[in-house]
Amino acid sequence: DALPLDEVDGNVIHTVKRSVFSESQPSPLKEPLTLAAVSQDVLRNILDLNESVIQNEEFVRCVSGGKLFPGSVPLAHRYGGHQFGYWAGQLGDGRAHLLGEYTNRKGERWEVQLKGSGKTPYSRSGDGRAVIRSSVREFLRSEALSLVVSEEPVWRDPFYNGSVIKERGAVVLRLAKSWFRIGSLEILTRTGELDVLRTLLDFVIKEHFKSIATNDPDKYVVFFSRVLNETAHLIAHWMSVGFAHGVCNTDNFSLLSISFDYGPFGFMESYDPNFVPNTSDDEGRYSIGAQANVGLFNLQKLLEALKPLLTSDQLSQSQQILREYPQIYHQRFHELFKAKLGFLGNEEKDSYVIAFLLKLMEDTGADFTMTFRQLSEVTLSRLQKGSFAPSLWALSDLSSHKHFRDWVQLYLQRLSRIMSDSDEERQHRMQGVNPRYVLRNWMAESAIRKAEKNDYSEVTLLQKTLMEPFMEQEEAERAGYASKPPSWAQQLRVSCSS
Ligand code: AMP
Ligand code: MG
Ligand code: MG
Repeated sequence: DALPLDEVDGNVIHTVKRSVFSESQPSPLKEPLTLAAVSQDVLRNILDLNESVIQNEEFVRCVSGGKLFPGSVPLAHRYGGHQFGYWAGQLGDGRAHLLGEYTNRKGERWEVQLKGSGKTPYSRSGDGRAVIRSSVREFLRSEALSLVVSEEPVWRDPFYNGSVIKERGAVVLRLAKSWFRIGSLEILTRTGELDVLRTLLDFVIKEHFKSIATNDPDKYVVFFSRVLNETAHLIAHWMSVGFAHGVCNTDNFSLLSISFDYGPFGFMESYDPNFVPNTSDDEGRYSIGAQANVGLFNLQKLLEALKPLLTSDQLSQSQQILREYPQIYHQRFHELFKAKLGFLGNEEKDSYVIAFLLKLMEDTGADFTMTFRQLSEVTLSRLQKGSFAPSLWALSDLSSHKHFRDWVQLYLQRLSRIMSDSDEERQHRMQGVNPRYVLRNWMAESAIRKAEKNDYSEVTLLQKTLMEPFMEQEEAERAGYASKPPSWAQQLRVSCSS
């Protein structure tokens, strides 16, 4: 109720003015529908639902836009954004519908959204749909309840090579604490709708930044500083698990610094700062190593959006805060990588030990995820000996480097200075921060190929596996999720087509 609503009815595409949302009805997918996958965790622990609800034949319609929950007024959000460095104008939810918010037993407030649920006033030339392959990836990476697959034909050119193929439509029901983005504010500043800008910003602060006093005259500066800190932390976290978002446009950057809007994302296999997950990103603007800088660019755009609401003093304060971003990012990155190596306390040479290891990984092509994981699983005496069983394949790759032993000596010396630390304690610490499983492209691709043939078993296996990425799991091991990636994984490509 608090936010301005567009007055044009229906799903007519138009340039919306003076609104944050438009009412828009989901368009049901062509039946028969298949409930391909459900997250038991989201069902029980976020939505307080009992497993038996999925037996109800209405459930699949409710989670795919065919039937509304009681009291739901579906909305499409109006936002803009900078895409690949340039202002792109009005974008908005072109294929997503916000169904409403749910406050669960724990008192957490979640916003429930469908993706792939049909056209909205923001669809532009799009069809409002999403295909199976991108929906599987979205389901696996998001806080998602369900994946529904239909017989609805959807036409796509997956590799942008002119061959359009018939695929099938799917809908994901996904949740986030908030779906507002940097672009949510940008559009209002760009169009000079400053009263709406203020209303939205006050709403976001009141709902999601509860420690900022609503009567604080500097509340927008404090807000900017918080978003900046959390964005730096988010990107440092992405780097610590080798994650590249792929499309870091301001319309895909959450004001709450949540990872969302998944397109051609990827986890890098061997360490490579130039890793680009998106084949449509020719210039590598969003390569993994560029993400920290792109975060800074996006925060500059956020500050531009806030500017009309700031006094000149507040603007210079905010610019000063912006200058602190690199330092905040580097500090966080440093802390995360220290934890990955099992270090406690601070030593002057820590940055060097981290950078040295990354260099060894880059030179040898050793697997990023498994190098850290195997360092967490190996005993220090085994590491000292330097001969590794086939199960320690990443360390074995790493040990081919002529400076491997030099690094190991530094590393062991550093660890030996931690008082009363045991192998078990160190391994326990390290295994809690170094995942054994990440959603590698080949794993997603394997699940997608089966899903396209109506076999959703691997989607479910991956969903379960990734719930506990730090815990060794039998079925995941059998599927090879911690093994050396298959050779066909090297050739995999993911484009923006979705
Ligand atoms: P993305 O690159 O997925 O973040 O999308 C950028 C913009 O394009 C957003 O406004 C999306 O809602 C919109 N969009 C992407 N695909 C479609 C589609 N098939 N139909 C309608 N809008 C779309
Ligand atoms: Mg997006
Ligand atoms: Mg897309």
